[in-house]
Amino acid sequence: MKMTEKDSLLSDFELFDKMKEHEQVVFCNDPATGLRAIIAIHNTTLGPALGGCRMQPYNNVEEALEDVLRLSKGMTYKCAAADVDFGGGKAVIIGDPNKDKTPELFRAFGQFVNSLGGRFYTGTDMGTTMEDFVHMMKETTFVSGLPEEYGGGGDTSILTAAGVLFGIRATNQMLYGSDDLGGRTYAIQGLGKVGFKVASSLLETGAHIIVADINKDSLKGIEEKALTTSGTVTVVANDEIYSQAADMFVPCAFGGIINDNTIEQFMVKAIVGSANNQLLHESHGQLLQKKGILYAPDYIVNSGGLIQVADEIYGINHERVLKKTKQIYEAILGIFKEAENRGITTIESANEMCEKRIAMRGNLNNFYAASVKPKWKFTNS
Ligand code: NAD
Repeated sequence: MKMTEKDSLLSDFELFDKMKEHEQVVFCNDPATGLRAIIAIHNTTLGPALGGCRMQPYNNVEEALEDVLRLSKGMTYKCAAADVDFGGGKAVIIGDPNKDKTPELFRAFGQFVNSLGGRFYTGTDMGTTMEDFVHMMKETTFVSGLPEEYGGGGDTSILTAAGVLFGIRATNQMLYGSDDLGGRTYAIQGLGKVGFKVASSLLETGAHIIVADINKDSLKGIEEKALTTSGTVTVVANDEIYSQAADMFVPCAFGGIINDNTIEQFMVKAIVGSANNQLLHESHGQLLQKKGILYAPDYIVNSGGLIQVADEIYGINHERVLKKTKQIYEAILGIFKEAENRGITTIESANEMCEKRIAMRGNLNNFYAASVKPKWKFTNS
């Protein structure tokens, strides 16, 4: 169907409507390398936008745009919750990570990131690796999540897993009045970079873990690990993991796994895991609450990796990063208690905490201050 002038004007307005909560959206096009990417900056009240760069063969531009808008907003909350001085942003490259990657494509993307002059910092996400960012860093300094040999913090999954364990401890404290990890049963979905580390640490405390993964090698690996610890492991089929009787469900694979179908099956007291966007809709937080299942908001539980990449921008210090990651324990406990006291869901409690923090910080510079630059603050000059 041929588009009329009126139609195209309408779609222009629709585009602005879609991004009404966002500060800026940048479409990046480089025919020479085949780069087609979108950068979305949601909110920079707390500092320059920070967010990973995802590479995925989206079916169309609209799908890519929806994804980048949703993910960049999520980063605003995640940065606020982790109390790092960064705002929310995200980038998506439209392409197949198994076929379309070239060093030149990432260098071209690096040039676009550089053109934003520090309003947006990016790092790895689904479909991109630290090696891709080594190409990008030749064009821009606004990258993070680099390998250690390039001055970066290296693999983020170590700190992400550490954060998940702090989240599990806080949840045990809330449920049982003791934050010991051992002697409990955890149903873990996904034994990848994060899940395997979480599962191994739980085995070392003597816990019983029930696991599912589509990757047979990971299952074999965790069974071998169990032999060297006081913990025990049971492997179940992928679709059986939701209905296991356990203290906790620990999702470490993919998003949207808390939905009408799974909530009906859950036989756990709590859900704490690394997967991003676990609630299919925010209303599923209410359904969990009704069923008496305590939910630890994902974007706080899995913020260890973000804390590391944010710290890397100042010059990585592993001790400092671990200290900040430990704060996940208190943050989760605080959110549980606030939600309980006010009869709201834990995700509502977490979102409110972030919104308050952003509003307070937004009011910080409303009087004239002398222009001495503190070392730990981004300034425009
Ligand atoms: P990963 O790709 O290394 O691991 C994912 C694992 O899930 C793999 O072992 C895969 O085989 C398994 N899996 C996939 N589909 C499955 C299914 N249907 N049933 C069971 N298992 C399945 O990813 P990761 O880095 O370990 O991240 C895990 C989750 O945590 C993701 O949602 C990611 O977005 C999130 N996360 C990761 C980090 C990080 O630092 N790596 C930080 C924040 C959030």
